[in-house]
Amino acid sequence: MASAGSTAVGPLRRAVIFLGPPGAGKGTQAQEVARLYQVPHLSTGDMFRDHVSRGSPLGLQAKPIMERGELVPDEIVLGMVEERIARPDCSNGFVFDGFPRTLAQAEKLGQILAKLPFGRPLVLHFVVDQGRLLRRLTGRRTCKVGGEIYNIYDRQPKVPGRCDNDGGELVQRPDDREEVIRERLAAYERQTMPLVDYYRRQGVLKDVNGDGDVPTVLQSVVGLLKRAR
Ligand code: AMP
Repeated sequence: MASAGSTAVGPLRRAVIFLGPPGAGKGTQAQEVARLYQVPHLSTGDMFRDHVSRGSPLGLQAKPIMERGELVPDEIVLGMVEERIARPDCSNGFVFDGFPRTLAQAEKLGQILAKLPFGRPLVLHFVVDQGRLLRRLTGRRTCKVGGEIYNIYDRQPKVPGRCDNDGGELVQRPDDREEVIRERLAAYERQTMPLVDYYRRQGVLKDVNGDGDVPTVLQSVVGLLKRAR
């Protein structure tokens, strides 16, 4: 959807982690990067929402936790991720969006990645003004069919309420209501923020200014990916 400039991108061949608070634009950027490099976009939130909509046992466990804006227990997330990245489509690299979210998840991910041929992950840390986060969260609408992300303020579809790609209905996530947003932001501060230091100390973290529009941020992201080879 957005343009990353005219320069061609090479193969990704690594694990890229999109880290940042809810509403930072990680999902949109991860979607664009995955499309550009033709690797899977692994959003643990999307995986859980899929389980919830299918009413699977995992979905039944995750649903009330997600509705409160809290984090799903590490063992559940890790089992799901391990199974996913073992699939053949992950052999050229992948983009994590919303994972890892706790130190325990990050440590376990480190052990899993050590067995893969990609070397250390690249962590893109999205830094965004608080007011903008709230606007992105309350304005976010997602396509029911393909998961494409829009925003009623900043990234409107051509036809209101319908996805540009497949005409799917655009809906608001149940956890994008204000009281749940507050808990999600608190969970981020409490459980996920420590990962910024963890990865910075390892020298694998790059800060991304996430305040711009989608093409502007994407250009910085692709620039970082190219320089990090
Ligand atoms: P997201 O779409 O990334 O905002 O995730 C939506 C919800 O799914 C979160 O608020 C959590 O309840 C759950 N979730 C997604 N990813 C994780 C994770 N890595 N660890 C724990 N819970 C997660």
